[in-house]
Amino acid sequence: MHITPEVHAVRLRGANAFLIVEDRLNLIDAGLPGSRRALDHYVSTIGRSLDQLDRIVCTHGHPDHVGGARELAADSVDVLLHRDDAEAIRAGLGDVLRSPSRARLFAALSRSPLASTPLVDGQVLPLLGGLEVVHTPGHTPGSVCLWSSKEGILFSGDSLFFDGVGRTDLAGGDEKKLRASLQRRLMVLPPETRVFPGHGPFTTIEREKKTNPFMRAAR
Ligand SMILES: [Zn+2]
Repeated sequence: MHITPEVHAVRLRGANAFLIVEDRLNLIDAGLPGSRRALDHYVSTIGRSLDQLDRIVCTHGHPDHVGGARELAADSVDVLLHRDDAEAIRAGLGDVLRSPSRARLFAALSRSPLASTPLVDGQVLPLLGGLEVVHTPGHTPGSVCLWSSKEGILFSGDSLFFDGVGRTDLAGGDEKKLRASLQRRLMVLPPETRVFPGHGPFTTIEREKKTNPFMRAAR
């Protein structure tokens, strides 16, 4: 589905992903393992090929956002993830290695990308005229949103949803940090910014400021 000529929403297994179609292709979030077929199909409907994929930018380290990265990432594809979530994935793998069971080991390996390049707060990726990394810890320690001021679009991962926010009861989740992230980093964006979350329908900053309890001014 076209959001703009360059930004396409693609439903992968377990999550929304966003394909950025420029001279090359870049993907925001990778779905669960088993997502390759859906992405391959979508890319072919727009006359492009996964050979043109340069990067997979992961909004955070949960399996429904990074799980598909391994099967999508040929050697030349860079997988980007904030260091705090990359470390959590490695720590999880460490637990598995300490209690070796072949099945669990393979499950862990297939859920996480082997190697990732760190995403850093304030970094600007050369996509959509400049796509800024906004570190918004809370749903996970390494959650990021990706903001294009030129397009007026925010990819919010699992930090901000239509009328809601991501869970904070999973490992590394922190409700206080999530609230602070949203208020300090997202509420200040232009109100007309369109927000595309990892799950469910899209929204705007203006709408969430009015309706979302996490986005109201600090008490
Ligand atoms: Zn998540």
